[in-house]
Amino acid sequence: MAKTEERCSFCGREKREARVLIAGLNGHICDNCIQQAQTILDEELASKKPKNFQEYNLLKPIEIKRYIDQYVIGQEEAKRVISVAVYNHYKRIRHAKESKDDDIELEKSNIIIVGETGTGKTLLARSIAKMLNVPFCIADATALTEAGYVGEDVESILARLLQVADYNLEAAERGIVFIDEIDKIARKSDNPSITRDVSGEGVQQALLKMLEGSVVNVPPQGGRKHPEQRMIQINTQNILFITGGAFDGIDKKIANRLQTNRIGYKVDRKREEVDKNNILQYISPVDLKAFGLIPELVGRMPIVTFMHPLDRPTLKRILTEPKNSLVKQYIKLFEIDNVKLSFDDDALDFIVDKSVEFKLGARGLRAILEGIMNDAMFELPSKANIKNLKVNLAFVEEKFNKTSLSKLKVA
Ligand code: ADP
Repeated sequence: MAKTEERCSFCGREKREARVLIAGLNGHICDNCIQQAQTILDEELASKKPKNFQEYNLLKPIEIKRYIDQYVIGQEEAKRVISVAVYNHYKRIRHAKESKDDDIELEKSNIIIVGETGTGKTLLARSIAKMLNVPFCIADATALTEAGYVGEDVESILARLLQVADYNLEAAERGIVFIDEIDKIARKSDNPSITRDVSGEGVQQALLKMLEGSVVNVPPQGGRKHPEQRMIQINTQNILFITGGAFDGIDKKIANRLQTNRIGYKVDRKREEVDKNNILQYISPVDLKAFGLIPELVGRMPIVTFMHPLDRPTLKRILTEPKNSLVKQYIKLFEIDNVKLSFDDDALDFIVDKSVEFKLGARGLRAILEGIMNDAMFELPSKANIKNLKVNLAFVEEKFNKTSLSKLKVA
């Protein structure tokens, strides 16, 4: 039998047509197919790698703010301050990576946001993380205790961050941690306590280590440390900590300080015009210390900013303007069922009014809307003939009065 020409077992190309033909046990492969296989291999491997957090996007402060504007309404001061802080933080990371010589070392700047609950602190931190494409997690300071006590160790926060990062250590080490209710771990009096203070000062001390940048041993699965468990070492040097709290009553401390500052000093007239309606804007690290945060911890959060309480116009904008606003979400939900949903302006005003009346803030908007839209969401999918739903004042009044929310007593 005549010897048949050797050919590629994948594409059938004959030896003379290929530049290279490699022989295997039972077949051959040509250079062309090797190249194609390599491309497939690269794509496959890339899809198997944790996709997220490969690279982070660093925008300029103005662009950062523009990005956050899509999600967070108002809070102009906080957005500006945080845009700069975030830019500097990640610039510092790049600088440290690129500069081999030991020139000026840029210190990291964690952030503390003071403002009532529901004013957008978490949303702001989350939006920043989303923009940067870095791992993000939220921790509640009230759940934390010193190591060895019942409750969560501060290390558990880092375990969570690592989890969110798909155990990509490098990504976790440049992530963002939001610690909520930091005010709840303030010491109760201005005097350093003599006795151990499990829930307050001890936790502040534990947080301090983590915030200032250290290598922390983290149990990979979170939870309690077991002696036999293998620890992962996380360096917190480049992790950005954003903390938030309502700091109830801090306005009085600020007012006191502004008052006492004035006595005995010749202050210029402009400073005297203190805007009493918005005392928080004068917040400074001194007030945080007076509130009961230990000076070392305050020192580790040099960027101090504040959130405004949400007024009616802002609540209304929150309903409609953010990229994923509630109104846009409902319109989308109905669109999927081929129903064109629209809201009258005064219907939106009604929803805002109820949220203000019942002191529910921005979180209440969702609950109120959900109550109002529930009947329609129940019935419309089965009514193929209805193609439009216009939500007007009469509609929201009727539906709202049927909800349990309407039975709430105004506090
Ligand atoms: P905080 O952390 O200050 O308690 P959140 O960020 O959790 O408040 O806000 C609760 C919800 O209220 C958010 O998920 C968002 O839907 C809405 N919200 C609050 N403030 C704003 C704001 N300024 N802009 C847009 N939405 C907001």
